[in-house]
Amino acid sequence: MPNSKVLILLKENVSAQMKILLLLGGFVHAGFVVLALIFGIHQIVLFSSIAAVLFICAGCFIRLNNFLFFYIFTFLEIIANITLLEITVGSSLGFPLYFFTLIPISTYILSSSYKKNYQITFLICSFILNIFSFIFFSQILPYYSPDPILSETASFCFYSFSATGAGFIVGFLTLYFILNTLSKYTLFQEENSLLLESSHRDELTGLYNRRFMNEFLEKNFSDSGSEFCIGMSDIDFFKDFNDKYGHDAGDLVLRTLPPLFAPFCEKENIIICRWGGEEFLFYFPFTPQAGKKLLNQIRKNIEKSVLFYGNEPLCLTMTFGLSESRKNYSSVEEMIKAADSNLYKGKKSGRNCVVL
Ligand code: GH3
Ligand code: MG
Ligand code: MG
Repeated sequence: MPNSKVLILLKENVSAQMKILLLLGGFVHAGFVVLALIFGIHQIVLFSSIAAVLFICAGCFIRLNNFLFFYIFTFLEIIANITLLEITVGSSLGFPLYFFTLIPISTYILSSSYKKNYQITFLICSFILNIFSFIFFSQILPYYSPDPILSETASFCFYSFSATGAGFIVGFLTLYFILNTLSKYTLFQEENSLLLESSHRDELTGLYNRRFMNEFLEKNFSDSGSEFCIGMSDIDFFKDFNDKYGHDAGDLVLRTLPPLFAPFCEKENIIICRWGGEEFLFYFPFTPQAGKKLLNQIRKNIEKSVLFYGNEPLCLTMTFGLSESRKNYSSVEEMIKAADSNLYKGKKSGRNCVVL
């Protein structure tokens, strides 16, 4: 089962990836500035410097944990920068290659608020959009752009640098996209399992609830190889107790009971649930005789425990009824009825006892 450690690890990796991407973007811009200075193209010096500043602004959104704005800013920065370069220095320097870096970016922006199923559709749409952008900027726009102004060596240097930089950025963006999707999925699964767990629990006592126990018993009953018995318990004179001390004191008692059961139930796969108001059902994966011994230990522990409600010492007892082994019954209901009827016998015979 995915846990929060996995999530933290993924998140840490994601933020490390973003830092690498920022460094890489900064390095690409700096590289363009250096190349442009060497070959004397002032437009590239100017636009790459502006783009670098925009990229740093985009990076600030990462500090604010606002990844969507980071992506939007980066998206705009790439479009603005490449468009200006295309118009002023032409397409022979390989700048249109950077449109490929927009594929993961636009997919993220388009799909971030949608369900997982849509992401493939968005990826395909983004891909088509980017191919068209690439064709437009590399094939159509050059008719209206200045002729190449550089030597073949300079063009080769720019083109290679563009291709390498774009390749690395696409790789990192894709990795980020995958990690981010994974981390969202992990979070979703964690929330789901928490929800499932809470739907199985009783709010007041934290024990399992009746619905969980019913499903659990049915499953175990249909497994013919499993041997188990059931214990039903009920607090003695709890109505009088509530009348005397108040409902809040009664609730406090109900919350205090699980820790009194726990020392005897932890090791042996015993399952306890709050069956009703002040009734608890025990599932024992062993013989009724062993169950009776254990319930007597629990009974004595409750009998000797003193609970304080403010300064008021509170004492209580409980009565327990046990069913026979599973093989003696044809349904779970029959087993529960048998445990209940033994509990009733216990109440009749003076309470604070275990009846099998
Ligand atoms: P007996 O020994 O025969 O069991 O006597 P009793 O008074 O305990 O009788 P019964 O089991 O029928 O009483 C159930 C009482 O439990 C009624 C109600 O006052 C109390 N009760 C049930 N659920 C809650 C709860 O969630 N909180 C509190 N404080 N009391 C509850
Ligand atoms: Mg009762
Ligand atoms: Mg009772």
